[in-house]
Amino acid sequence: MKIAIVGTGYVGLVTGVCLAEIGHCVTCVDIDHGKIGQLQAGRVPFFEPGLAELLEKQQQRERLSFTVSHADAFARAEVIFLAVGTPQGADGMPDLRALTEAACAIGRYVRQDVLVVVKSTVPVGTTHSLQSLIAGQLAHPVKVRFAANPEFLREGSAVYDTFHGDRIVIGTEEGEAARMLEEVYRPLSIPILHTDIRSAEMIKYASNAFLAAKISFINEIANLCERLGATIEDVARGMGMDQRIGEKFLRAGIGYGGSCFPKDVKALLKMAERSGYSFSILQAVEQVNGRQQLLLIEKAAKRWGDLRGKRMALLGLAFKPDTDDMREAPSLVVARALLERGAQVAAYDPVSMGNARTLLPGQVQFAASAEAALEGADAAFVLTEWEEFTRPAFARQLQRMKAKVVFDGRNCLDASVMREQGVEYYPIGRGEVSEPVLTSIHEKRRER
Ligand code: NAD
Repeated sequence: MKIAIVGTGYVGLVTGVCLAEIGHCVTCVDIDHGKIGQLQAGRVPFFEPGLAELLEKQQQRERLSFTVSHADAFARAEVIFLAVGTPQGADGMPDLRALTEAACAIGRYVRQDVLVVVKSTVPVGTTHSLQSLIAGQLAHPVKVRFAANPEFLREGSAVYDTFHGDRIVIGTEEGEAARMLEEVYRPLSIPILHTDIRSAEMIKYASNAFLAAKISFINEIANLCERLGATIEDVARGMGMDQRIGEKFLRAGIGYGGSCFPKDVKALLKMAERSGYSFSILQAVEQVNGRQQLLLIEKAAKRWGDLRGKRMALLGLAFKPDTDDMREAPSLVVARALLERGAQVAAYDPVSMGNARTLLPGQVQFAASAEAALEGADAAFVLTEWEEFTRPAFARQLQRMKAKVVFDGRNCLDASVMREQGVEYYPIGRGEVSEPVLTSIHEKRRER
């Protein structure tokens, strides 16, 4: 099919490249001339594993093209996906200006019947509003159908997720729209759930809010484990073996961040508030997360009292590994809190240094390597579980520190290795028994 994608961010570009890979003819449009220039030259403007290879392949096959002209992108499109950003607005609701502009462009430029698919995460009712907006703007007498088709990919494994998603949600009240979207996705063989538009919009928020709740819940259990002498990894494992609970999203740490969970939780809270409903659990989820992001600061303050003049190495800045996305990353909160308390901060991340420079306060020093950040440091804060920090070479680099104190915000370091290196090690959620035992017993049993 002939497809146009509006917005070439993490969602739009991955969707465009993957739809080309399964045989569609895709044109991606963006208002960012720099991004489109890079894409036309075959370069991915952000870090996403596996995407560059697929981009090159599809450009060579001439199934994928890029433009800054909405008119060109929509010229022959049968389906238009809206994948522009919906960042948090000042009132806590998503800022829908990009979406409104994109909708106006559809009204102006489509000259044939088309299916408009809202892939951006939007408050319940938005797709219907866009429908009215576009109807009022149409410059040509064409039939425009609508569907809400929320996206569930994860940054860092976005390509894999697009080909192996758990479900595709198609929200529409029009049979022909549902048929067309099924046709688009048929080669993926992913289960499809058909709903009305509002339910599809809600599924996205409910899913992200639930995952955020799982994270805040396990973090609360971790904090309690520390106080009661239990070990969070063993507790999480024991919980996760229950299929009603599931093992995913039970990793304790310094809370969730990123471009989706914080803003989607806030938006759902706002939607609830506007409809006169008090969403108590979700209020607590957000509150717990805010506190959890400062947990390592609390631990450091307890360790030293006064943090003034201390040199702190921040290792890992992206909100999670395998992405360069720094939006709402917990590292931003930790860096600001350390600076406020008078500490010096040296920061390093394997891929997100470019984005970090634009988002972290000016006083932060940027180190070219983990080793350089650790040089002469009083403490290290591991904030993203990059694979690099779990290698033996990293443990050896800790010897460059002035004082070998490590706060592990992701529980990704090996406690026994830390002990061997003489490190004063602070993980999250481990009481007196400081290493997970359930895992090792389980592994020994398997070895037998
Ligand atoms: P992004 O900020 O990375 O990219 C958005 C792109 O849209 C930018 O390149 C911007 O220049 C472009 N744009 C803005 N206005 C435009 C217009 N009028 N015409 C053409 N292009 C325009 O955003 P993202 O992270 O890809 O997220 C897109 C949407 O998908 C959001 O609603 C987000 O909540 C949702 N989502 C994101 C993820 C994720 O992991 N990033 C996952 C699921 C859903």
